[in-house]
Amino acid sequence: MLAAHAAGRAPDSIALIAVGKTFSAVDIRALAKQGQRDFAENYVQEAVNKQAELVDLDLVWHFIGPVQRNKTHIIATRFAWVHSVDRLLIAERLSIARAAMSVPLNVCIQVNISREASKSGVLPEDLPALARAVAVLPHLRLRGLMAIPRPEQDPTVQRKAFAALRDCLLQLNHDGLALDVLSMGMSSDFEAAIAEGATMVRLGSALFGTRYYSMEKK
Ligand SMILES: *Cc1c(COP(=O)(O)O)cnc(C)c1O
Repeated sequence: MLAAHAAGRAPDSIALIAVGKTFSAVDIRALAKQGQRDFAENYVQEAVNKQAELVDLDLVWHFIGPVQRNKTHIIATRFAWVHSVDRLLIAERLSIARAAMSVPLNVCIQVNISREASKSGVLPEDLPALARAVAVLPHLRLRGLMAIPRPEQDPTVQRKAFAALRDCLLQLNHDGLALDVLSMGMSSDFEAAIAEGATMVRLGSALFGTRYYSMEKK
């Protein structure tokens, strides 16, 4: 709210996605009770377990972790959104799996905006071809772009990476796509992301508190 006002933007133009990884279904239920509907998870097994405990709630589930090819069916059928598509093969498999459902799967393409060797995401120069190919898959709806920039302390440096992602989206729309989502900003940099046009911010620790990686990652 404050970050939106600071950036001169309407708060309702920015969706808050609560990132629940390592937090329990009880924590998620408590936040849902306060009116939060959009929740994100990184690991399939962890997500499926929580979804089973929360079936009585009307929640919108977002997948934001790396998509393994043997998990595409479960992801395509258990989530409304996937923010982390970065290969055509994965997108094709998600589309085929989603054919069983009545509404398309909303997807964002993850861009490796800081060009880090170890990071997921398509490189900016490879984005246009991937976006065009994903946009025509029948059971997906390409909505926009997602990025996790290299962590930086300086807000000016944070903003440069987010501005670069925004420019990628503007270029794709200029070339004929109609994308409306910029999924960018986490607890440590969401103000900078909002200042550069984020339409979805993904907050974990800022909402749930400190995260302890005690459970084994799936
Ligand atoms: C964990 C995670 C977040 C949230 O991180 P916080 O720093 O806890 O806000 C957002 N996006 C992705 C892709 C994540 O993995």
